[in-house]
Amino acid sequence: MSEVNEGDFDLLRAAFAVAQAAREAGDHPFGAILAGPDGSVLMRQGNGYRAEGQDMTAHAERVLATRASKAHRPEFLAACTMYVSAEPCAMCAGAIYWSGIGRVVYGQSEADLKRQTGAHDENPTLDLPCRVVFAAGQRVVDVVGPLLADEAASLQEGFWEEKRVSHGKHDLAVLNTLTVQSFVQVLGGVFEHAPWVAEAAAAARPFASIDDLHAAMFGQILAAPRSTQLAFLRGHPELAGEHARRSTLAAHSAAEQSSLGLDQPNPAIAETFDVLNADYRAQFGFPFIICVRRHTLGSIVSQFRARMLRDAATEMVQALTEIGHITRLRLAGLVEGKGEDPLAGWLSTHVLDTGLGRPAAGMSLELVALGEVGEQVLGRFETNHDGRTQAPILPKGEMRIGLYELRFDVEAYFAARKSATPEFLGVVPIRFRVSDPQSHYHVPLLVSPGGYSTYRGS
Ligand SMILES: [Zn+2]
Repeated sequence: MSEVNEGDFDLLRAAFAVAQAAREAGDHPFGAILAGPDGSVLMRQGNGYRAEGQDMTAHAERVLATRASKAHRPEFLAACTMYVSAEPCAMCAGAIYWSGIGRVVYGQSEADLKRQTGAHDENPTLDLPCRVVFAAGQRVVDVVGPLLADEAASLQEGFWEEKRVSHGKHDLAVLNTLTVQSFVQVLGGVFEHAPWVAEAAAAARPFASIDDLHAAMFGQILAAPRSTQLAFLRGHPELAGEHARRSTLAAHSAAEQSSLGLDQPNPAIAETFDVLNADYRAQFGFPFIICVRRHTLGSIVSQFRARMLRDAATEMVQALTEIGHITRLRLAGLVEGKGEDPLAGWLSTHVLDTGLGRPAAGMSLELVALGEVGEQVLGRFETNHDGRTQAPILPKGEMRIGLYELRFDVEAYFAARKSATPEFLGVVPIRFRVSDPQSHYHVPLLVSPGGYSTYRGS
């Protein structure tokens, strides 16, 4: 039977302090620590939902168990204790089990927590006692808890209610009425490490549209002295750089870079970016800045190379233009209100069987992004009875500048129809370029057993 040790109370309260720090940093109010066999604190870990780029699996215990497992052998961890502010969920209990950690002490029970959080999208509590999970395993994990449950519960107080109020986007009309301090709290992260931009722009309220809000904020940067602009540019992280790989980016940047996998680049991509980053910085004195969400990986690398050939003044203007795109997209994600959708474009196709004179149903196709660093398969689709895909090949918000290829499996299509004509076409690739992510691109295929054609539709 599990016993409470004298040292457990202090160590559990230390985990509460980590939870409080996580809450103050904008993450969820959960914290965990790993204590060694002698009761010394080996690791601290707060919830990482925001810090890890909206990672729903970044529970403090799960992240801590992973870190512990990378640092120590299971034989050692068997003699360690994890202290955690709330009972580990099924996922976290699983991670603790697999890491080999021998003992868990928790504050608040999962059932009690569920009563406080309710049905919140960011924390749809998985209410299964951790003892049930551990009991299914082949090794014993000692569990103590609930312990200091009231203190643990106070960590959550008010948090989920506030979240519910501010859940989703912030209404522009409400932003117009907030105190400057609250306004900066919401929008201070839009311009990288430059909350002064939001603070200065607050004076120009009210704003009629998101475009107006953006113009007021961006205007602060454009009107700033060159030295301030340079310092601001230098505050930006490198693409696939140290911060991205070690997950220490600011929240917006983390989400943007991970959208192309730049936080976990393969060795070839990592090497390419290491060289480009170093060359660019040596030449211009600030990091290469591009609106990642508007480009494919291949497009970013080709832009990197092309812009390296420019002079410093042109490049500074380009960097600021990219900042304009980046921050406008960030505002679109944060604020609800009137304004142009900055990624309104989308991609569609339509396949016509010209031999039959009707839509080609049941044809498989895939969309691939091309570039120097290899190709990325973005999706696989099948045409419906109308010769179209059920959903856009690239929906709004996912259009990026770059070179693409649509690969239509014409061979399988005609083989399945037992066409009388001898087999001729294999997979038909159509290579095309998207240069404006705000436009609709339509790339149809007109095909018969003997030939095909395409055109830029709309
Ligand atoms: Zn969990």
